[in-house]
Amino acid sequence: MSKPRMIQPRWLARFLAFVCGYFWLPCPLCKQDFAGFEAGESGLMNTPYEGQMVCAGCSEQAHLISMERWAIWREHGVLKRDALKPYGLA
Ligand SMILES: [Zn+2]
Repeated sequence: MSKPRMIQPRWLARFLAFVCGYFWLPCPLCKQDFAGFEAGESGLMNTPYEGQMVCAGCSEQAHLISMERWAIWREHGVLKRDALKPYGLA
């Protein structure tokens, strides 16, 4: 599967993010600045209830890390059925 591409040059992506109202932040995995419209399909879950968006190039890696974390949280009983109901995950 090919990775979605980010707009080059980066100044143009930053300009479009500013003009169109998207965020412009560093990706938590690769540290490269990216615009909100360049975010990948998967986010990086930091806790069972909170996560961060990542760039399109890091989406697959973020998904794998998040799944590993979910397994650990589930194993250690961090995930409580009632706490997840508002998110439709229980
Ligand atoms: Zn990234």
